[in-house]
Amino acid sequence: MIQAPRGTFDVLPEEAARREFVESQARDILGAAGYRRIETPTFEATVLFARGVGEATDIVQKEMYTFDDGGGRSLTLRPEGTAPVCRAYIEHGMHKLPQPVKLWYLSSFFRSEAPQKGRYRQFWQVGAEAIGSAGAATDAELIVLLNDLLAALSVKDVRLRLSSLGNPETRSAYRDELTAYLRAHEDRLSPEVRARIDLNPMRAFDATDPRTRETMRDAPKLLDRLDEEDAEHFAQVRTLLDDAGVRYELDPTLVRGLDYYTRTLFEFTSEALGAQSGVAGGGRYDRLIEQLDGPPTPASGWAAGVERMLLAAADLPVRPALVDLFVARADGDLAGARTAFELAHDARRAGLAAQLELAGRSLKGQLKHADRIGARYVAIVADAGHASLKDMESGDQRELEPTDVIPVILRGSRLS
Ligand code: ATP
Ligand code: MG
Repeated sequence: MIQAPRGTFDVLPEEAARREFVESQARDILGAAGYRRIETPTFEATVLFARGVGEATDIVQKEMYTFDDGGGRSLTLRPEGTAPVCRAYIEHGMHKLPQPVKLWYLSSFFRSEAPQKGRYRQFWQVGAEAIGSAGAATDAELIVLLNDLLAALSVKDVRLRLSSLGNPETRSAYRDELTAYLRAHEDRLSPEVRARIDLNPMRAFDATDPRTRETMRDAPKLLDRLDEEDAEHFAQVRTLLDDAGVRYELDPTLVRGLDYYTRTLFEFTSEALGAQSGVAGGGRYDRLIEQLDGPPTPASGWAAGVERMLLAAADLPVRPALVDLFVARADGDLAGARTAFELAHDARRAGLAAQLELAGRSLKGQLKHADRIGARYVAIVADAGHASLKDMESGDQRELEPTDVIPVILRGSRLS
């Protein structure tokens, strides 16, 4: 039996309805703040992610689906959305538009990871990017919008962790300072952390080993090393969030798996998720556009995992589809079949939700089916000139001409 590839899943109709709810909430919340939808290709030149996400990141090192297009060009299924949106911003000269350009997307992404609950090889993200504004209000507004989206989807037990990474220069000086600290305390670090001191010293803060954790408590923190402007920017973001009543925890050790962040950095988690607790994350990336050969352009954004939001969501107000009319067939002639077919089509053109019997059920079976799908009315077509209309709520039924079915339903007139 052929099955869906490991780490992928089918979205069946009930789940599709929940996802449509996510989409409509994202559209309403982001649309109201002036964000407009963008979609980029499913695959991009590999170099976009190598340069945009960062050569040293887990994503680029281990998680990308990369292939040759047959003509010697290396392509990669997009593992994230920010680098592609920035590529599009540059390619379409969006720096000539009024700034910031505010964009949102709902797309699928691909990462070659060990599949588990909440971690898939193809997954979906809602993302928002505000390109062309350096202001703290942009960051705070993005966080507030994400917070609103999570609330609208009733994502449970949400925590927001917030930090600032400053700029690449202070970060690099800090990195040297941290590396020196780790070297000086090498004997107190776990072998894994010790092995990665040069590759990624920040990761030492994520260690689970108790002795390493204890050692890291006294390690220098990046938040204490921000320069004056970055510190001021961060203070403004925090004031705006405080004013908006958004609760957050400062986490000076917050790191995220992408290289492009500067200044504001944040992550939403949900206790309801267990191990894969990250629901959404984002931050400011003031150097990325330039790194992709665009004009120097400050920007900020986030991405939220659709599956994880749904896993951590309470029951969503997803209502079953309405059925105004079910067109049933009494045993009859071909003319009756054509009349029934036409009636269902006309009903839809008149704005009704109308379904036609397609399975050759007995009349009794058809009525049972109509009841099961919640049809408001059933029209039983006998032949071109004869039908009866049954009100499924009251049980009333009356004979009429097929051409009268739609007007009667639209008038909502009583049948008896
Ligand atoms: P994690 O720490 O769980 O690997 P991440 O830091 O790699 O997450 P981001 O790149 O920040 O995640 O992506 C933003 C959001 O996308 C995550 O918070 C999560 O909700 C979702 N996400 C990331 N990877 C996956 C995946 N493999 N399957 C499902 N959702 C994912
Ligand atoms: Mg990851």
